[in-house]
Amino acid sequence: MLGKGYDIDVILHRGAGAYICGEETAMLTSLEGYRGEPRLKPPFPAVKGLYGKPTVVNNVETVCNLPHIVLNGADWFKAMGTPTGAGTRLWCMSGHVNRPGNYEMENGTPIRELIEEHGGGVWKNRKLKAFQPGGASMMVLLPQHLDVGLDFDAIAKAGSLAGAGAMVVMDETTCMVDAARRYVKFFEHESCGKCTPCREGTFWMANLFDRFEGGDAKPGDIDLLLDIGYNIDGRSFCPLGDASTWFPRSVIKFFRDEFQEHISEKGCPFKKSVQEAVA
Ligand code: SF4
Repeated sequence: MLGKGYDIDVILHRGAGAYICGEETAMLTSLEGYRGEPRLKPPFPAVKGLYGKPTVVNNVETVCNLPHIVLNGADWFKAMGTPTGAGTRLWCMSGHVNRPGNYEMENGTPIRELIEEHGGGVWKNRKLKAFQPGGASMMVLLPQHLDVGLDFDAIAKAGSLAGAGAMVVMDETTCMVDAARRYVKFFEHESCGKCTPCREGTFWMANLFDRFEGGDAKPGDIDLLLDIGYNIDGRSFCPLGDASTWFPRSVIKFFRDEFQEHISEKGCPFKKSVQEAVA
């Protein structure tokens, strides 16, 4: 390797696209040729991982930082970012923004700079309604949070999580009930089915969201959704189940009126009326 007299084998495995295989033990199980389901922890992979051997699991982004830290030193790396979050991070921005894409940002940079400067702001001259800072499972944040830093601690303090660094921007025409419904459907599909709270809970949450969208929801259905969420979170075998509830629960917290409107209007006229007003 690089003329150093040291050999290393690099073997690339292609995944088949299962979201659950982002969970480290499910990924190891899948690599061993079994169905991708999480394993009980402990033992953690560092003790008993691939084929029962101690295994280090890191993502590519972490590994990519290493040569730069080795070449430039830890102090160089720590000079970037925040005291508790050194360095930079990749943010994958999508949704209603003029320039979606991957952006490497110094930790602590205001979210506003990512969306408004690098992303070119909300598309079609519309207003920002909400954004989700860390991927499919993370709690929704509002325009009042735009000056929060791109940093694990700061985003957690604001009420969400930096998660996978996938920033989703939602403009003023977004129906938040429908946004939550789409995420819940995703988690229903991606649930591996191993444990009951996640397998059944995501199914019933998806059913309830269909009721809202189809105009069949009843007044008690908002609290029923929350109740199902509370019974999944903390009772699931792995974080997929817990996290499937975070976005919809946060949407109910900030946009409960939209759920109520779906009940009283028997469907989603709100979305249509906002789109007409903005068109
Ligand atoms: Fe599978 Fe969901 Fe249970 Fe995780 S929480 S083990 S994804 S059923």
